[in-house]
Amino acid sequence: MSEFELIQRYFARNQPTSSAVTLGIGDDAAILQLPVGELLVVSVDTMVAGTHFLADTPAELIAQRALGAAVSDLAAMAARPLWYTLALTLPDVSESWLEAFAVALAQRSAELGIILVGGDTTRGPLSLTLTVQGSVQPGLALQRKGAQVGDIIAVTGTLGDSRAGLESLLHPQKATMADLDWLRQRFYRPEPRLQLAQQLAPLAHCAIDISDGLMADLGHLLQASQLGAELELTALPLSPALKNFSQDQQRLRDWALSGGEDFELCLTIPAANWAQAQALAASLAIPLTDVGRIIAAPTLCLLDEGQPVPLSQVRQGGYDHFRRIHD
Ligand code: ADP
Ligand code: MG
Repeated sequence: MSEFELIQRYFARNQPTSSAVTLGIGDDAAILQLPVGELLVVSVDTMVAGTHFLADTPAELIAQRALGAAVSDLAAMAARPLWYTLALTLPDVSESWLEAFAVALAQRSAELGIILVGGDTTRGPLSLTLTVQGSVQPGLALQRKGAQVGDIIAVTGTLGDSRAGLESLLHPQKATMADLDWLRQRFYRPEPRLQLAQQLAPLAHCAIDISDGLMADLGHLLQASQLGAELELTALPLSPALKNFSQDQQRLRDWALSGGEDFELCLTIPAANWAQAQALAASLAIPLTDVGRIIAAPTLCLLDEGQPVPLSQVRQGGYDHFRRIHD
């Protein structure tokens, strides 16, 4: 199969039409129409086999995971998804792999409201680079900077699930099948919080998506805002499936804090807007949990029922916290 045939067969066909896509796949470049008066929001993500996913991961799961993770960056900016390009490097041309990949990619693209408008196909070790683009009204993008002292630190959904899902793939576990399926879905099929982010944008000061773990990503937000935070460990939202997965509370806490790849959002919201923010989240049936406060001191302090977590436990637990965020 030639490269041309491959692109035609798997990527060019069955693309949805949109008035915003004047010219999609098949020419030297795409021609696109940004919504009038809006700003373009752009992000790129690369996933390499063996580094970001196990090389034998089924093609449809690779597609779902790559697209969900990439679109999560648009959610974190409170942007609306528009279109994306895909640079795909394949070790060989397997028609069954490409078929499964393309079908899952098209399905997930439709669900997330984003259109594939171009790409590049090359031979080499399996990797995918997705450049996602969205739009936002001027002034409504949520950045990492902008937190203010006293803001409520809120997280969407639950934390640590994706790490447990990965753990169950790497090591056999004694969990029920229903719980395992759900946790693995959380790992393989990130659900960008697009709608909630857009609705919360006028109420929140800033946001980041949780790709590296709450500790690390909240750290980025604090650094950008030049502030610190108190984080209440007992408030971290854990799913029923995660609680069933392990009785080791320390381990669950570690996963919730540093497991990563949950692709939930961490936002800071002024207290005056909190009730309204919670009502919006409730109307979308997405948990929105108060996990701490923004403080002036440039440190990230972990609290256990309001008491600072002792340094000894910090070391044993392996948290890299009580750290200075910036000087
Ligand atoms: P050129 O040599 O002009 O860059 P290509 O042969 O690389 O053209 O691509 C032809 C068309 O197919 C372009 O519109 C390109 O965006 C699209 N394309 C190539 N690879 C992919 C892919 N993996 N997914 C989606 N579109 C692709
Ligand atoms: Mg090209």
